[in-house]
Amino acid sequence: MKKQLGKERYFVEKLDLLYEGKAKQVFLTDDPDLLIVDYKDDATAFNGEKKGTIPGKGAVNNRMSNQFFRMLEKKGIPTHYVQELSDTETVVKKAEIIPLKVIIRNVAAGSFSKKLGIEEGFQLLEPTLEFSYKNDALGDPMINDYYAIAIGAAQRNEIERIEELAFQVNDILKEAFWNLGIRLIDFKIEFGRYKGQIILADEISSDTCRLWDMETDEKLYQDRFRHDLGEVEGAYQEVFRHLGL
Ligand code: UDP
Repeated sequence: MKKQLGKERYFVEKLDLLYEGKAKQVFLTDDPDLLIVDYKDDATAFNGEKKGTIPGKGAVNNRMSNQFFRMLEKKGIPTHYVQELSDTETVVKKAEIIPLKVIIRNVAAGSFSKKLGIEEGFQLLEPTLEFSYKNDALGDPMINDYYAIAIGAAQRNEIERIEELAFQVNDILKEAFWNLGIRLIDFKIEFGRYKGQIILADEISSDTCRLWDMETDEKLYQDRFRHDLGEVEGAYQEVFRHLGL
């Protein structure tokens, strides 16, 4: 059965499973330019070494990501978002994913702190960006722009556009979280090619952002799962409340 997409009166039919990742299933549709993403309740951390299921997580991440994508679109960032279909399903543009994880950091934490021996919580003098090459078997090794171009992951002009968009996304998200009393420590985004344009793809959710409470520096959401800080399910619901979803 075709589902009606809100006001646009656009219809799309969910067809075969195209791909299943750690957190999402991706389905083909009867429109070759569109896919349907279905968020799962499965949780992983540390490159899949830690696994679990958190009831309701798929719905929270789907709605949170969509909320951000709509906000970013309004501010001029091109994204793959088309329309939310249900609690866990969203129609997105079928972009050709660029195999780079783009990580933006505002505050030292996680692998950055470990690698450089810089205390978690150190406010970076300016936001910084790193790339890793999306490859599970290799553990997503960190690479630079020269590597990315040399291995054919992206072209120079694409890298420049990705960097420009990534810092713009950071400014927008940082402010949005700040207004909610949350510090955006770091996050990961991905980009794709769609009809000759670079667009923001994948997701922006509590799984891909490191968020700390502004007053207390309490680690919110994702870090709780990673470090067994408990209350994981409640923490995902808390995202909802915090974001007014
Ligand atoms: N991140 C992600 N997926 C990845 C790798 C990193 O979403 O495969 C996010 C992570 O959640 C954090 C940021 O990118 O918000 C920086 O991650 P870091 O390199 O510090 O790795 P970690 O120490 O979190 O494993």
